[in-house]
Amino acid sequence: MISEPTIYSTLKQEIGPDVTLVAVSKTKPTDQILELYEKGQRAFGENYVQELIEKQALLPDDIQWHFIGHLQTNKVKYIAPFVHLIHGIDSLKLLKEVNKEAVKNKRSINVLLQIHIAQEETKFGLNEQELEALITELQEQPLLHVKIIGMMGMASFSEDTEQVRREFHYLKDLFNRYQSIHLPNFELKQLSMGMSSDYKIALSEGSTMIRIGSLLFGSRS
Ligand SMILES: *Cc1c(COP(=O)(O)O)cnc(C)c1O
Repeated sequence: MISEPTIYSTLKQEIGPDVTLVAVSKTKPTDQILELYEKGQRAFGENYVQELIEKQALLPDDIQWHFIGHLQTNKVKYIAPFVHLIHGIDSLKLLKEVNKEAVKNKRSINVLLQIHIAQEETKFGLNEQELEALITELQEQPLLHVKIIGMMGMASFSEDTEQVRREFHYLKDLFNRYQSIHLPNFELKQLSMGMSSDYKIALSEGSTMIRIGSLLFGSRS
């Protein structure tokens, strides 16, 4: 019997070699993570600090852990020793804290700036004015142990695909404009947008990194 291609291998094929797939494993047990790891997946995303540090201690060292949730400043210290990329930077205060913990751990930490693009009030992220203000601050006081390598955004949770497309398009546009800015710790290369329900739209609007949970691991309760 010829085995069916898995969702994972189909998705990898579909997105091609230039887009990073972050497998969002929040709430899922370590054996499900290992199953995907054995197929070659290395980038995994988690939302909760406690859950992330527990899993990190149990799983292989070469996993690249992406923190994709809302990060509180008092919790940065727990993930600073090992985190590969923090997607949700939405204030200078948080960025400074990441820098401080990176110094303590004698490393540099890669981050993305989260931009508010959805209609819902509840989604976190910077608006254009806040982004501009943050970059002005960075020019005055460079934080040399963080590297801002891109932007992240979450579109509205909506059936209206044109609305979702407009929001991703807006983010890509903003990303393009800020790509011309080069500071010692600021060089935009990654655009993290797209989840299980909207990754196809995100890819067609220029995403370089998609965060996929339920499509790979099944729905969460
Ligand atoms: C949970 C989560 C995802 C993955 O969502 P799915 O719809 O399960 O693919 C992506 N990004 C963020 C920020 C999340 O919190």
